[in-house]
Amino acid sequence: MFGVGYVGLVTGACFAELGNDVICFDTDVRKIAMLERSEVPFYEPGLAEMIARNVAAGRLSFTADPKVAVEGSDIVFIAVGTPMSDTGHADLTYVRQAAVTIAKLLNGPKIIVNKSTVPVETGDVVAGLIEEYRTTHYDVSVVSNPEFVREGSAISDFMSPDRIVLGTADPEVGETMRLLYAPLNAPVILTNVRTAEMIKYAANAFLAAKVSFINEISRLCEKLGADVIDVVTAVGADHRIGTTFFQPGLGFGGSCFPKDVMALRRISEKSGVEPHMLRAVLDTNEQQQDHCMQKIERHFGGDLAGRRIAFLGLSFKANTDDVRESPSLRLAVRLIEAGARVTAHDPIAVENAKAVTPVELECVDSPYAAAEGAEALVIATEWNDYRELDLGRLRELVAQPVLFDLRNIIRLDDARKLGFQVVGVGRGSQGTASALPQARGV
Ligand code: NAD
Repeated sequence: MFGVGYVGLVTGACFAELGNDVICFDTDVRKIAMLERSEVPFYEPGLAEMIARNVAAGRLSFTADPKVAVEGSDIVFIAVGTPMSDTGHADLTYVRQAAVTIAKLLNGPKIIVNKSTVPVETGDVVAGLIEEYRTTHYDVSVVSNPEFVREGSAISDFMSPDRIVLGTADPEVGETMRLLYAPLNAPVILTNVRTAEMIKYAANAFLAAKVSFINEISRLCEKLGADVIDVVTAVGADHRIGTTFFQPGLGFGGSCFPKDVMALRRISEKSGVEPHMLRAVLDTNEQQQDHCMQKIERHFGGDLAGRRIAFLGLSFKANTDDVRESPSLRLAVRLIEAGARVTAHDPIAVENAKAVTPVELECVDSPYAAAEGAEALVIATEWNDYRELDLGRLRELVAQPVLFDLRNIIRLDDARKLGFQVVGVGRGSQGTASALPQARGV
C-alpha cells in the first residue's frame, strides 16, 4: 500500500483483516514511525484496534523503505493524495512519484492498482511511467479501483460496500482483483480503466450536487416560510431520491467533494463540454457559506467587532479530525477576521485546526467553557456531543441566548422553552427567516 493516509491506512488494515499480508509504505517517515510505535496518525473509529489486531497477527506491517513494500507484494495499491492544484486540476505529483518508484523496484509480475481519485486517463499516465522507468520486463498491469469510503465510517463502508469498481483491460487481472474483494460479497462492476476513473468523479459530483440542491431549497424555504426539515423528510421518502447527502447546512467540504467537483469541471472544460451543473454546484456551495456568515452578521447589525461567539465544531463533518476544506473552520476564521472574539470547541479536531488556521484560534475543552459569557452560540459541525448538549446549563452560561444551529441538530421547542432565540437553516416556517413578516424570535 503506497500511502498511509485516510484511504491507504484503512484499506491496508481492512485487507489485512480479510486475511491478506499487507505492507504499508509512506514517504512521510513521521507517520511510519508513529505506526511502528502503534500510534495512528489520524482519528477513524475502530481503526486503531483493527491495526493492533492485524499487526499482532503478523499480517500488517509498516515500512519507510519502498523496496520492502514493492518486492514483498504481488499487488501494489497507490493511495496517495491528489490535492487540488492552483488551477483547479487534480495535482498528480504524488501519483507520478509513486509510479516511478514502483517502476524502478519491479522484481516480478505485479498488478498496480490506482485507488487515488484521479482524472480520466491517469491509468495511461501510470502505465506510461512504468514503461519509461522500469529496468525489468515482468508483466505489469495497471488497474483503476476507486474508493468510496467516507471518513468517520470508513471501516464499515469498506467492509460493506455498495459496489466494487474495477477498471482493467485484462480479464485475468480482473479475476484476481475480484477474488481479492470476494470476501466482501459485494456487487462488482468490471469495466475499462477510463470508465472506472469517470465513475468516481461522477459519484462525488452527484452527491455534492444533492447537497447544493437542498441548500438552495433551504434558502428558498427561509424566504417563503416553509420548513426544510419537512421538505427533506417528504421529498427524501421517495426511494428515487433518499435523505442521505440531502440535509441543508453550512455547505460541503472535506478533502474530496470540493477538489473532485472542481477537477471534473476542469476536465469537462478541457474536453469542450460546458460544465453548467458542476459550476452551479460549486457556486451554490460558496453562496451557502456566505449565507451562514451573513445570518450571524445580520444578527449583530453588521458589526462583529468585539462580539463574543462560542463556536462549536471545527472538523468538516462529525466523527473525523479532518479539517481540510472544512466550512466550519472557514466560518470560524471569517468571524475572527471580522473582529469577533471566538472561543471554539471540537471533540477531536482542535490540534489539526490550529495547525492550519492563519489566525489565532482560542480553543477550550468543553462546549460549556466556550459558552461562558457568549453573545451567540454557533453550532457548525453535527457532532453527536452537540445534539446532546444540556441547553439549560448553556442558558445559564451565555450572556445572550442566541443559537445559530447551522446543522439543524437542536430541537427548536426545547431551546425556545428555555428562552433561546434559534436561527437554523431553511426553517422559514419556524421563524428563523429575518425576511419573513411573521417571523418569530429573530
Ligand atoms: P491523505 O493526504 O490522507 O494521504 C495521502 C498519503 O500519501 C500521505 O500520507 C502522503 O505522505 C502519502 N504519499 C504521498 N506521496 C507518496 C509516495 N510517492 N509514496 C508513498 N506515499 C506517498 O489522502 P487521503 O485522504 O487518504 O486520499 C488519498 C486519495 O484517495 C485521494 O486521491 C483522495 O481523493 C481519495 N479518496 C479519499 C477519501 C477520503 O475520505 N479521504 C475517500 C475516497 C477517495
